[in-house]
Order: sequence, then structure tokens, then C-alpha cells
Amino acid sequence: MKTSTKIEEPTRQPSIIRFRDDQYLLTMEDLREQTGHKAGLPLVWCPAILQFISYQDGKLRLRNTCKQESYLLSLTMKPDGLQVTCDCSDNSKPVCYHIYGALRTLIGTFGESYFKKLLPEGAMELAFKHRFCFDKRESSAGLDVSVREELQAVFWLDNRIVVTDLSAMLNLPAESSKPKIFTQSKKTGSGSEDGICYLWIVPYRNRFQPFMVPCAGKLNKAQTEIKQFYGFLSALQQPYDGLLTEAQQELNKTCFAHWQLAETLPGRLIKAGLVQCQTHTWIEVLNHWRDLIDQLSRQAFVYAYFLHRVDQLKKDKPHKQRATRIIVSTDVPVVAFSLTDKGVYYQFRTEIWINGELMQEYETDTSFFVSHKNTLYLLGSLRDAAILQWMDQLDGVITIFKEHFAAFEQTILAPIRQHYPITTYKTSKPHETLYDLPGSI
Ligand SMILES: [Zn+2]
Repeated sequence: MKTSTKIEEPTRQPSIIRFRDDQYLLTMEDLREQTGHKAGLPLVWCPAILQFISYQDGKLRLRNTCKQESYLLSLTMKPDGLQVTCDCSDNSKPVCYHIYGALRTLIGTFGESYFKKLLPEGAMELAFKHRFCFDKRESSAGLDVSVREELQAVFWLDNRIVVTDLSAMLNLPAESSKPKIFTQSKKTGSGSEDGICYLWIVPYRNRFQPFMVPCAGKLNKAQTEIKQFYGFLSALQQPYDGLLTEAQQELNKTCFAHWQLAETLPGRLIKAGLVQCQTHTWIEVLNHWRDLIDQLSRQAFVYAYFLHRVDQLKKDKPHKQRATRIIVSTDVPVVAFSLTDKGVYYQFRTEIWINGELMQEYETDTSFFVSHKNTLYLLGSLRDAAILQWMDQLDGVITIFKEHFAAFEQTILAPIRQHYPITTYKTSKPHETLYDLPGSI
């Protein structure tokens, strides 16, 4: 077996492997085009065994063993591509067989986007600089690094943030028109064993937009709870339709108009950082909710209900155990943001204020609403709905290493600051949830 026993610069000229696009993807096909065919390498490939040696000054060094031969491999990101060196003496080909085998192993094991981690100020460099924030895993394919889950979406390292079209979200209408106010406030249920209720239908996995359907059910003795639901749309049928007040009959018309629209729309206003559908469609949805919210806030019985399929509405009865009693509020949440300095990184979070009070542990996974302790609040504007849903899809927090802060400030913080207040905090415990794992490099 031939071995190189000391770390030294290789004898052959470095090879440059170019990436497919600015996301630094390198596919097996790209690799074959740049190395296999042009270099005339053998079609039968022997898996390379890669052993991590060191990472320093942007250079990843690995011991590359293939077909009982062992060489030193080094990988460095350069402006024109990935610079790869091998200390073999084969200068007859642009890319030697050892490099080809090693890159195949890296792509096959860690994926086509692995090399992006080798960028200056990328995940590999930060993993050695801020060891408490990353996990490092050595294997027979070398070394992989990943951000600890506690940090969630990390700016510049997480593509979910990079591809975002923030300006499209921030340019959505921000006006906060007042909800339609009804004059009647008669409660249902008094004097009868049955009562009218409203179900906030939330489709399973957000397949389409939520909507409200009227329903009837049997009340408990104290008339404080629906203890058994009749059919989904039973409130519209005899003998229960007589329980409806005039205001509820009016409310039901708006519910149905909204249902018809909601069923045709994607469940998420924002997907992969992009606004889905036309703006006027979402304005129509929001206006429907504005017309509904006041009357819904006056209803005695409202429930959130998770629905798997729409056809269940026509043939099934609501299951009591899948219904959660909720209160609909006419208070309008105020959206703001916070930026907390945690030492080596910042964390950017959403803040929701109701009547001057900062809410904790709220949900924003359905478009247009914030729910907090079983109370449902309608957001004030389409822009608020979009920006909250975008943050919700990033688990509500963006982590920014200080090395990336200037880029974050330019691309995200400054545009958001033009429309929303951002409060800054400093924590005295930068690593309160982070700890070093046994065996970490
Ligand atoms: Zn070689």
C-alpha cells in the first residue's frame, strides 16, 4: 500500500471543479461531465474511504484511500469553483482517479449541496469557530457539520431564508380596516335542549384555507357546552334551523361565500418565501373574515375542528374529541419583531402584542389568524398575515451569526424595519440551551 505519512502540499496541480449555479450544487452528472469523460477515467468506480485530518484556513484535508492506495486530499472553495488537490504523482490527467472517487463519495454520502459548507464563513468554518453551535460527525466519508437544532433557521446557511422574496411580502396592503359590526347580539340555545354552534374548519396539513360552518348540537343541562354534535350542516336543516337568529342567518351567508372561496385556495399564503395567488384574492379572503369576526365573537359556541376531507362535511357528524372550544376576539394583534444579542449570534423573532401585552406561546400556522390560549385573533392586514406566515415556516426565529450580520441587516432587517418596530435585547446567557457533546471535535 502506498501511503503519504506527512501533511504536505501535493505534487500534482490543483483541479478546479465548477458548480452548477450560485447555490453551489454539484451533482454526480456535473462531476462526470467535468472529470469522468474528459479525463477518461475508468467506468468501474471503487468507493473512496475518506478520513478527516484537519480543517484550517478554509482548507479541508482528508486521507483518501481507494483500491489500497492512500493519498492526501484537500478541498478549498475558490471564486471559480472547488479547488481539489491530490498528492499523487499522476499529472497526465486534469482530474486524477482519486479525486473523482473522493468527490463521488462526498456527494453520495452528504448530498449535492455539501460543498457550500466549505465557503468562507460557511458552516465548516463556523463549526470550528463556534463549536457549541454545531454538531460535527466523522465517518468513512470524512467530516460533516450541521447547525444544532436549537438554533433553527440560520441566516445564510439555510436556503429557506435565502430564497425569500421579502419585498413582495412587505409591499402587500397594510391597511387595517375595521371589522363589520352587527347590531344584534342574541345568544342561541336558551330555552332549548339544542344549540347553534360554529366550527372553524382547519384543513388537515393546510390543504386549503380555513372556513366557518354552522352546526347544531345537543346542549348540556347547564347550557354551557355542546355535548354532542348533530351533522356538520345541521343548523340549516329542520328541526334546528328555527334556532337561528336573524343575525346568524346573515352570518351564514357570509360563511358560505367564504367557504366557496377558501376551498379553492392553497392553505398557505406564503410558500417557500413566495406569495401564492393574486393579491386581490387574499384581500377578498381577509375582507370575508372582517365581515365575520364581530358576529363570530358574539356566538356562544365556537369550536376549532381539524378536518381530513371536505366530503366529510356532507355525510359525517363532527367528533366531539376533535373539536376544541375557542373564543373569537375582535382585538387586532400588533405585529413587531425583536433582535436579541446572544454573544456569537443574534436571534430575530416575531412579537405579537394584544392590547399592549406581549403574547407568549401563540400559534400562527393558519393564514390570517393568531391563536393564543384558545382565543382566535384576526390579523390586521394582508402584510401582517404574510410576514407572520413566513416566520412561522422558519419556526418563528432566525439565527444570525455575527459574521453574517451585515448581509442580514441589508437584506432582511432594514426592509422590515421600514414597516415594523424592532426591539433589541441583550442576553447575559448566550449559550443557555447549548452544550458541548461528548466526543465533539
Ligand atoms: Zn490523485
